[in-house]
Amino acid sequence: MAKRDYYDILELGKNANADEVKKAYRKMAIKYHPDKNPNDPTAEEKFKEAAEAYEVLSDPQKRQRYDQYGHQGVNNGGGGGGMNMDDIFSNFGDVFGDGSPFEGFFGGGRQRGNAMRKGSNLRIKLKLSLEEIANGTEKKIKVKKHVACKSCSGNGSKNGTSLKTCPTCSGSGQVKKVVNTMLGQMVSSSTCPTCYGEGKSILDRCEACYGEGRVIEEEVIAIKVPAGVAEGMQLSMSGKGNAPERGGVPGDLLIVIEEEEHPIFKRDNQNNIIYDLYISFVDAVLGSSVEIPTLEGKVKIKIDAGTQGGKILRLKGKGIKEINGYNRGDQLIYVNVWTPKELNKEERELLGKLKDSPNFKPNPGKNEKGFFEKMKEFF
Ligand SMILES: [Zn+2]
Ligand SMILES: [Zn+2]
Repeated sequence: MAKRDYYDILELGKNANADEVKKAYRKMAIKYHPDKNPNDPTAEEKFKEAAEAYEVLSDPQKRQRYDQYGHQGVNNGGGGGGMNMDDIFSNFGDVFGDGSPFEGFFGGGRQRGNAMRKGSNLRIKLKLSLEEIANGTEKKIKVKKHVACKSCSGNGSKNGTSLKTCPTCSGSGQVKKVVNTMLGQMVSSSTCPTCYGEGKSILDRCEACYGEGRVIEEEVIAIKVPAGVAEGMQLSMSGKGNAPERGGVPGDLLIVIEEEEHPIFKRDNQNNIIYDLYISFVDAVLGSSVEIPTLEGKVKIKIDAGTQGGKILRLKGKGIKEINGYNRGDQLIYVNVWTPKELNKEERELLGKLKDSPNFKPNPGKNEKGFFEKMKEFF
């Protein structure tokens, strides 16, 4: 689907000022808010669309790039584009600010403060074999993390009963102190010591989480790994990280890929698999058929009579699938001719007889390519 113009989305003229942009976004956000349009994917789409438009038009630099180059100027390479719901809600603080009618509007479904609070990201390492990387895989892993406390639904109070407005600060989260100084009375304000600035206090702490609203638990998470990932790449799963204290959205789970060393294959810096094949001197001379492993089981390949050591054979499409693509790398087979290191008497005599045979003298022709020629051909 083609992207709509950001000004059209917010129903704005090109000359709209910052205040008008904010107002227009507020209007759209209220109209299409998911709490107001439950189970309406069209509304959710519009809600996200408006958030994306606002994100660009509210930022002078991005807006200028957009005006000049259109969507391409502000697509920061994410490919997927768009914003997730957590990002959108976490930006609401700027848009609606204090004392906005927004929360009241939706019956307090999202509590003030909580909408902006996000848990910390969780980073894990995930080891994968080349076989798993070749086709993509799903891994189930156990993760120890903060999850919302079930006994209090994450708000930290006993049995989940609703929180009371903090009596110390009357809900403002700040306490004012009047200090007498030489210059007269001064008012200083600081974070409320009772509620730590949240404006709400727990009268009776939840016993399961000691009022923190979260507990540490082990969770099994299924991670879908696309084919073609490589060492050091990072996948992220939104909302699978740590839950914050007393409500809000969990952080993300960041998964750093580690490539396990394979016992027989090496991966080149693309998606090809390299396999070192050793054949006997006799097979190289007379030709043969050998069975070799691939990432998907064994295959038979033919060794032509007169094969030189250092030849590279290619099995098309037996490598690793491209990430975000349909192509597959190849398996490259490096042919090594094994030179025996020990010989018994009989073997030595047989070879001795052949030593001066004219066909055994090296005589590379035009078709024999040296090492550097071969490298050029393959990379
Ligand atoms: Zn609790
Ligand atoms: Zn307070």
